[in-house]
Amino acid sequence: MLLIALCLASGLSPAHATAFNGQSYVPLADWARANGLKCSWLKRGDEIVATNRTTRLVFDKDSRMVEINGINVALSFPVAPDRGTLLIAQLDLNTAIRPLLFPPRFTDPKCITTICLDPGHGGKDTGNHTFWHSEKTYTLALALELRSQLQKAGFNVILTRSKDTYVDLPDRPALANRRGADLFVSLHFNATPTGKDEVEGPQTYCITPVGASSTDAQGEGANYGPTAANRVEQRSLLLAYQMEKSLVQSLRVPDRGVRRARYAVLRDATMPAILIEGGYMTHPVESKKIYNAAYRRQMAQAIVNGILAYQRLVSPPPLVAPSTNHPAVTGTGTNKISTKNQTQ
Ligand SMILES: [Zn+2]
Repeated sequence: MLLIALCLASGLSPAHATAFNGQSYVPLADWARANGLKCSWLKRGDEIVATNRTTRLVFDKDSRMVEINGINVALSFPVAPDRGTLLIAQLDLNTAIRPLLFPPRFTDPKCITTICLDPGHGGKDTGNHTFWHSEKTYTLALALELRSQLQKAGFNVILTRSKDTYVDLPDRPALANRRGADLFVSLHFNATPTGKDEVEGPQTYCITPVGASSTDAQGEGANYGPTAANRVEQRSLLLAYQMEKSLVQSLRVPDRGVRRARYAVLRDATMPAILIEGGYMTHPVESKKIYNAAYRRQMAQAIVNGILAYQRLVSPPPLVAPSTNHPAVTGTGTNKISTKNQTQ
């Protein structure tokens, strides 16, 4: 009983771990059972669903994406087939699944008062460029709109740039650190490298766990050491999840998932930090929306709602009875913008 209790508390499975791909892997079904989830095949041998009253997880063989209550979240290692069942890396249970299903709620409540917005690129760095549109123009336009909405919601907002100026990447999180920001949100728009135009939808990045490769690893792999951002990576993941969910549900766009990267603007931030790729400038329809102020207002509202949803999880209003093991990623209702910061 003690062993099972310890395993549940740590998110470990009582099942035997198997070494696989140089990682410790455990059977998904055993982990699910130990954590009160019922497991069954959606497609025998290929796809497993694990459910309880409030949670639905879908795992696919050889895939690094898990669907958590309808939102895609990147794993660090693929789900692996083994003797008629599927295995999951213990590192992914510890750094992706457990922090979302069982966040360390109420143990360290933190008011969010100051938010640092980082409009990507600027000045000589145009970012993605399609026809006469530069990414730097639209990241700034979105940041200015978002600043206004966040201020109305009661937050203090600082910007890494408020004009078309060049700012070095390390200076961006450094500003947030220096000014004591509680959250760091970097804003970007995407483009496919080949200009292929069928890809659309937002994706939200947070720091890669120690010992893992990034979702889109570019010259940095599992050997990269711990970063400052890894100290608060669970909160960053929770923020990234709430953000992706809010964007996808409010804007009704395809979900490109919560992803992991050691981008320069993420790895040095000492507060929860995310990077939003708000959509694709290479998509014929989505690009026109990105260039449209009304759509950017909607996107800014979705970002505010994502922040408020995160805030409710990590810094609930007073006089709420403490609870543990509360699923943080349930529910599909759209969050409403409150007119003032509930923590103030
Ligand atoms: Zn960019």
